[in-house]
Amino acid sequence: MSLSYQHITPALARQTKLLMTDVDGTLTSADDTISPAVFETVLRLEESGVIVGLVSGRTLPELESLGHRLNISGPIIAENGAIARLKVDGELIELGYSRKPSMEALEKLMLLYPGSIRGREDNAERLVDVVIHTDNVPREALIQHLEDVQLVDSGYIMHLMPTGISKGNTLLELLGSVGHDGVSPEEVMVFGDSATDLSLFEIFPHSVLIPNPRLAPELTDDVQKAAAYIAGIPYGEGFVQVARYIADIRADSGRS
Ligand SMILES: [Mg+2]
Repeated sequence: MSLSYQHITPALARQTKLLMTDVDGTLTSADDTISPAVFETVLRLEESGVIVGLVSGRTLPELESLGHRLNISGPIIAENGAIARLKVDGELIELGYSRKPSMEALEKLMLLYPGSIRGREDNAERLVDVVIHTDNVPREALIQHLEDVQLVDSGYIMHLMPTGISKGNTLLELLGSVGHDGVSPEEVMVFGDSATDLSLFEIFPHSVLIPNPRLAPELTDDVQKAAAYIAGIPYGEGFVQVARYIADIRADSGRS
């Protein structure tokens, strides 16, 4: 069960070298925009020596554009772990994932639920992940038709992805190449708000849940059980609360 973020110790705040954050529900406000306070806090973290990166279900072009605006120096992990770069505009890392299983799963579901299951418009910009509209068909009904493909609910969009792809697995794979001589899992802090972040919460010991009021109650239980710490308020305002807390500790220890 997650503890209040105020249990993050000064030692933990100081040992953090890499902060990886989800975007939707974690950096965004209730109106889906990213507030100036998020930009300021990310800048403060980077200035205090924390490498900040993005790990999201969004497409690579969307994340790179946001990465430029945030001026971050860390990795960009897109499509829930299927696509990655070590830095904004860096080289694409070969993770070896194929889109074929998800496309086949979409065709199968469209035949089973004609009219209800449809691909989303932004599939054209996605390389591996397939995003779908499910209308009112319950997730439980859909997953029984899937074999080597997972159906993940971000609280915003439903994603079809080959089993095994996750934000957590991909971040773990990149760690050795981050910074000058790599970063260990204990030196990473991960931030997220939904079921697509569970792999981050499970793999990395230092995780922060940003409460998302839009998340289904059963998924809220799952993420609260998995995350180490929790912000006191939802959305990007919760990110700012916790990230500022960490930046303040680091600034204090820099002076002393
Ligand atoms: Mg999210």
